[in-house]
Amino acid sequence: MSSADNRRIVREGRRNGGGKEKGFFQKVHSPPSPLNDSLEGEIQAFLIDEDQLHTYDDLTKVNPVTPSTVLKCLQARYSVKVFYTHAGCTLVALNPFQPIPDLYTLDVMKEYHGAPQPQEFKPHIFIVAEEAYRNVQGQLEPVNQSLVVSGESGAGKTWTSRCLMKYYATVAASSSVVKSQDTVERIERRVLDSNPIMEAFGNACTLRNNNSSRFGKYIQLQLDRCQLLVGASVQTYLLEKSRVACQLANERNFHIFYQMMKMATDEQRKEWKMPPGQCFVWLPNSEKTVEEDCFHETVEAMVHLGINTERQRQIFRILAGILQLGNVNFYSSTDESQPCNLDEQSKDFSQRAAELLCVPAEELQMCLRVRMLKAGKQSVLKPCSQAECSMRRDCLAKVIYAQLFDWLVTFINNSICADKSTWCNFIGVLDVYGFECFQINNLEQLCINYANEKLQQHFVSHYLRAQQEEYVSEGLEWSFVKYQDNQSCLDLLEGSPVSVFSLLNEESRLNRVSDAKTLRVRLEKELCDNANISWDKFSKEPHFTVAHYAGKVHYQIQGMVEKNKDPVPPELSSLLQKSDNPLLHQIFTDKETENPTTKGLSKVTVVSKFKNSLESLMKILHTTTPHYTRCIKPNPDCKPLTFKKEEVIMQLEACGIVETIHISAAGFPIRIPFQSFMQRYGLIAKHPMFKSGSVDAQAGGSDVLRRAVEKLLSVVLQHKAFDPSHNLDGQKPNSWVHCGRTKVFLTQLMLDLLEDQRKKIL
Ligand code: ADP
Ligand code: MG
Repeated sequence: MSSADNRRIVREGRRNGGGKEKGFFQKVHSPPSPLNDSLEGEIQAFLIDEDQLHTYDDLTKVNPVTPSTVLKCLQARYSVKVFYTHAGCTLVALNPFQPIPDLYTLDVMKEYHGAPQPQEFKPHIFIVAEEAYRNVQGQLEPVNQSLVVSGESGAGKTWTSRCLMKYYATVAASSSVVKSQDTVERIERRVLDSNPIMEAFGNACTLRNNNSSRFGKYIQLQLDRCQLLVGASVQTYLLEKSRVACQLANERNFHIFYQMMKMATDEQRKEWKMPPGQCFVWLPNSEKTVEEDCFHETVEAMVHLGINTERQRQIFRILAGILQLGNVNFYSSTDESQPCNLDEQSKDFSQRAAELLCVPAEELQMCLRVRMLKAGKQSVLKPCSQAECSMRRDCLAKVIYAQLFDWLVTFINNSICADKSTWCNFIGVLDVYGFECFQINNLEQLCINYANEKLQQHFVSHYLRAQQEEYVSEGLEWSFVKYQDNQSCLDLLEGSPVSVFSLLNEESRLNRVSDAKTLRVRLEKELCDNANISWDKFSKEPHFTVAHYAGKVHYQIQGMVEKNKDPVPPELSSLLQKSDNPLLHQIFTDKETENPTTKGLSKVTVVSKFKNSLESLMKILHTTTPHYTRCIKPNPDCKPLTFKKEEVIMQLEACGIVETIHISAAGFPIRIPFQSFMQRYGLIAKHPMFKSGSVDAQAGGSDVLRRAVEKLLSVVLQHKAFDPSHNLDGQKPNSWVHCGRTKVFLTQLMLDLLEDQRKKIL
């Protein structure tokens, strides 16, 4: 895997169809394909008739399963505009990069929702949605569900999440209305309206995606006893706040700024001190038009959610203030004991910033240029260097934006969250950033890739391990695929007593000027036993390399400790508390009361905070039945109908999808407890056509039951062998079915055969 092209690679995610038994049998992977009448035929169809490749609805049916055959199959489907394919327990979604009429209409939703067996329909995201919806009302007890949507940037995660939300807002629409100051709204409308707001504030145009989410999101859709949507709650993760003050070449700031710049009325522009033609340093590439520059949609959603006009005004003035800050430059003073200077223009911009943020202009300028040092009980003022001034300016913008974003999320939650007494179950939709490997990777990538390791482990423990353990406990030999357990990588990152995070946190807590080399030496000395970390001896830059499940990533150490501390100078916090903008004042006063001991300078490191929020997420995920959807980006240029094999194979390999397919195909995807098996198929054995004698196991214990099942199976298989319509040449029926200790394990083929016989008798 090369990071030379500085591109994002992959993120893991697979869907687990397992979990609680439901309906008649537990189906680990689904839909019957028109091609599975005979395995022989299927292999031939695949190996010989490549024209048929596009008809494979499930990649586990491709034979043999190799990266190249899977790739060919996906490509064939993509070329005939079929974008969804099952891969055992995972749904693979190829991004069409063009609107597909009729694929997501209300009628289609109704069709999937109303079908007795939606799995039998063509693969679709609505199958996943519907399966989760039906699973909520489990047979024995209700089970919360989570839909994990993964893939690299631009692969279609957010699109898919929105699609899932729309599905539930449609099929589970309740008639409940929510009242707020000015509006009365239906709850499902509100839940959907949270999207344009969060996207306006949290998404940006990047090299990979014009509407790239710069934060992770987990939304829980709350269902009442009748399974109607009565509310939702959102949790966000790690907003990329650095984007406010620094954008890569050809990338943009968050959408909301451009929306304001482009779509506001003259009056608003005047209020925000944004005259036409005014250039803002923090608004690069504003000439680029993207669909998302839709100010009125954001404002409309704000209104629907109950953000009143006055609050909106406060929000937009804060944002306008941030933009003005970006145009303030500092110049070193000839006398080092004096603060940096501002030129006339910068003075104007800082004046406007102060007016918009409603803070005293003089004090704002001071805070940016002078640091207060505490020596015992006395405070000493020390002028900052030019670079430090710029850092303080950026820090101010970032902290305001991040706090504003958090306030919005809290507001949204207050507006859409149902009262705990009214809902009983939830379906969670997780849309988080994919695995990242850039040319330069720092703390952000370390956190994101750590999150992906956690999700990968979740998948492993829920699907692969569960599958293996079940086989072993049922006495089946497990010899299908060796799965990669990423525990040692997680130990390296977060383990105790020593790990990358613990060392990083220790260095961050020491009150000394951070030194990349010290951390580098400690990492090497204290973590040398872990095979997942390595160093390039010849590299000049201090770095470390982590072998993630999806590939190796080199992390730059320079700046990591500082980023982890993420300090906010106390002068800046107290300045903002003085703001006459009620929202800004509230945000920073609340922050202080939340954490009074830190006096504005948060001591909780970025890594600790992220680790904690991820741990809570994992706890929730572990209590739910997960469903995995893996989004694939068929080409890096976001072009329709363009399938770049190298791109796709990299995503498939690095996310281990080939491995998943292999396990699902090689194993027995269907398991039926003996009792249920006899209840459904016992009548076959009794039928005179089979002349089987007694296989009645009504009154027997589990051994008797097992023998009865074995006998029935052998009868069915023998009958098949004598049936001239079936050709069993070269086939070993043993590989179709296996009796465990309490369950029968079947391939799809064996199930089809049994159903066939059953139908004949009925
Ligand atoms: P991600 O969240 O994975 O970074 P997005 O969900 O934002 O990616 O998708 C990127 C773009 O791809 C979307 O803006 C949209 O134009 C297109 N897209 C994704 N999925 C679909 C789909 N199912 N149908 C049509 N266009 C899609
Ligand atoms: Mg996204």
